[in-house]
Amino acid sequence: MSIRSEYPAYLANQPISPNFDLNVEDKFRQSVATKVPLADVSLMEKAIAAADQAAQAMAELPSYRRQAVLNHCVQRFEQRSEELAEALCVEAGKPIGDSRGEVTRLIDTFRVAAEESTRMLGEVMPLDISSRAEGYRGMWKRVPIGPCAFITPFNFPLNLVAHKVAPALAVGCPFVLKPASKTPIGALLVGEILSETDLPEGAFSILPANRGAADLLVTDDRLKKLSFTGSQDVGWSLKAKAGKKKVTLELGGNAACIVDEGTNLEDAAQRIVFGAFYQSGQSCVSVQRVLIHRSVYDATVELLCERIAKLKVGDPMGKETFVGPMITASDAERLENWIESAKKAGAKVLAGGTRDGILVQPTLLADVPKSEKVCSKEVFGPLAVVAPFDSFDEALAMANDSDFGLQVGIFTRDIQKIMKAWDTMDVGGVIIGDVPSWRVDHMPYGGVKESGIGREGVRFAMHDMTEIRNLVIRSV
Ligand code: NAD
Repeated sequence: MSIRSEYPAYLANQPISPNFDLNVEDKFRQSVATKVPLADVSLMEKAIAAADQAAQAMAELPSYRRQAVLNHCVQRFEQRSEELAEALCVEAGKPIGDSRGEVTRLIDTFRVAAEESTRMLGEVMPLDISSRAEGYRGMWKRVPIGPCAFITPFNFPLNLVAHKVAPALAVGCPFVLKPASKTPIGALLVGEILSETDLPEGAFSILPANRGAADLLVTDDRLKKLSFTGSQDVGWSLKAKAGKKKVTLELGGNAACIVDEGTNLEDAAQRIVFGAFYQSGQSCVSVQRVLIHRSVYDATVELLCERIAKLKVGDPMGKETFVGPMITASDAERLENWIESAKKAGAKVLAGGTRDGILVQPTLLADVPKSEKVCSKEVFGPLAVVAPFDSFDEALAMANDSDFGLQVGIFTRDIQKIMKAWDTMDVGGVIIGDVPSWRVDHMPYGGVKESGIGREGVRFAMHDMTEIRNLVIRSV
């Protein structure tokens, strides 16, 4: 195991270790694994001032140099992939197979950003739409928005950092990143690798931070954009404090997955079990509500239960482990309480339903009133509920009946139904033939309703980190 006893933070591209006030736990063993610094307001102030000062130099950095920085990261992530995966496994309790998968996605995200960094295209546009504009020509280009504030959650400590850091480097924005206090190591390792590059001084700071310092990151007007990934309540409250900044919020969900008649049920069950229980359901697009056509309901439920019974639960370092711990004991207790509440309201436990310390058995519930939290809130744990439907329209209405709107998964091959779902589902993405949890890192990704505003996915985040600047030329 390659976890060190301490990791420095990064202020204006340099490692700093003023103190090591933040303990980071091994989530499975629930013991301190390592220590990192915790920035206070004065350190955060320095980081913001440094980013502000670096804005011009970053904006002027030619694209081949931005690309070289991103390519350096790709190469170093590849060389250090096992160390990165082990860090995730310890700090997030993420099964080692999923941790390795996340490192692969980190590499993908930086690789795509390296490619896109040389394609910051603009447009030449005719302006002569009326006689007063005759002889005028127009052009526009994208310019970096300036210093950015990034705040990331615990569940993908590397790849969700990558979704902010890599586009910022690709367009030339300096940034200050506050990673999740529960899982800061991934971000600090990204900082270590970035500190090997020749980025202009002040281009990046990566600081686990106390509440006051995090507040400053949200409220300081020198920062032109806030990109936040995390929970619904925190996200919307930060937007209200963010002043004039452009804000992107990537928040939670309670994603639905529809199994229509005529589906290959073996295939659907295998994908649904993956989508509901990988990394203990702690994903914003985890399958939470499984809606099944009544004609195939019993058969699908049977297949789901068979597959759930085979999932190995336990130590995330175990090669066979599929479901590791929840992030904290109190999260596991919260989920247990939600299950008990659903049972009291009449829910039937088809699988799991029990907790052993920080481990919650993969759980499948049926007959749950939709007002129960396991249906209406974000579960963020290894639990899914099943419910039957009689018509595809009813299934779409059930899926849409949510405060959230990230992605929906639909198992159907009927083109009319596919188009209807694409036209009417109030979500950021409709996934056909797979679960809502499906994502690759260059596609637009994000939600509507309580699930947030704005889109990530490298090119889309890059656009969000730029402003359009016109050039108008009178040539007569
Ligand atoms: P969280 O909201 O508790 O924390 C997210 C980040 O915000 C952390 O860095 C945390 O330290 C910081 N934070 C918390 N309170 C703050 C405050 N008052 N001021 C400034 N910063 C503050 O979320 P979490 O538990 O780390 O992550 C889980 C949540 O993230 C889930 O709701 C999940 O759905 C969501 N998420 C969304 C996406 C997406 O792309 N839509 C991806 C992953 C996770």
